[in-house]
Amino acid sequence: MRLLKRAFVIMVLGASMLVAKPTIYILATGGTIAGSGDSALSGSYTSGTVTVDKLIAAVPEINEIATIKGEQIAQIGSQAMNDEVWLKLADRVNALLNDGGVDGIVITHGTDTMEESAYFLNLVTKSKKPVVLVGAMRSGTSMSADGPLNIYNAVNVAMDKASAGKGVLVVMNDKIHAAREVTKTATTAVDTFKSPNTGNIGTVNYGIVNYYLQPTRKHTVSSDFSVKGLKELPRVDVIFGHTNQTADFVETAIEKGAKGIVLAGVGNGNPYPSVEEALIKAAAQGIVVVRTSRTGSGSTSVGAEVDDAKYGFVTSDNLNAAKARVLLQLALTKTNEPSKIQKFYKEY
Ligand code: ASP
Repeated sequence: MRLLKRAFVIMVLGASMLVAKPTIYILATGGTIAGSGDSALSGSYTSGTVTVDKLIAAVPEINEIATIKGEQIAQIGSQAMNDEVWLKLADRVNALLNDGGVDGIVITHGTDTMEESAYFLNLVTKSKKPVVLVGAMRSGTSMSADGPLNIYNAVNVAMDKASAGKGVLVVMNDKIHAAREVTKTATTAVDTFKSPNTGNIGTVNYGIVNYYLQPTRKHTVSSDFSVKGLKELPRVDVIFGHTNQTADFVETAIEKGAKGIVLAGVGNGNPYPSVEEALIKAAAQGIVVVRTSRTGSGSTSVGAEVDDAKYGFVTSDNLNAAKARVLLQLALTKTNEPSKIQKFYKEY
């Protein structure tokens, strides 16, 4: 009798464990996904007008699969994303994930700078649990709005056990991308997010998650970077390379106290001659100079047409300029030694 009772208790416990829903936090920051406009057929709208509660209410299906909790972290178009919101987001993500009751986090975000926020969080989140950024290319009031299904898919990815340990993820338009690789490639197209150097690592189709690739660079729990206790990040400016360029922007960056300069150079990260002169001057003053390419893919080779060793320049591997800037901001919290920073670009 006693044995029977025990078996019954185990069965009931087992069944309740099977139906227990995961707890997913949705942290909202604004963007088109929370945007609204006057017409279903106009590209004109205002970002970040819809609150997190309304975003969640617009996708009731997510409450059937998870216990959803929402928090408003910011309410901005991501063109206004800044270090203050990043630091707040990083603190909240780390606090939540270190609480045993949270299984994953979805961050709703504007698409313009989503790739930078994703890569930043990829480097400073201290947990293997899933963190998924999601946005939309069409506001909630648009015809064929893409936000609701993107949110449904993002929650499914955040709940999926296979998403753990892959670093921060971006879910857009049925694709799962690794934070390091993903970039916005087109101004208004729904299929704008691509990972040009590697491809997307997985897919999510009406909530069905499949992975095909595993990110190999250091992230989250294997990252050396932490922003705990930081109130600001070092200033790093990006200079866009072009023909017939002056050195004015490099000189201004030096004058204004930049600690690092990222060059989005032409071709293989090449600078215009006057810009190269100014960058040599900057590096000689201890400002870290990182060469990247404006082409959109491929790695910037060390010492191909520029004598990096002689000038103390660093190259970004295949990070684009926006992401090279994020890594340099974090690297500068540790060192301003170019050889050590070059090593970071090989590892992250
Ligand atoms: N400007 C918007 C933003 O990044 C665009 C979007 O979300 O799609 O917030």
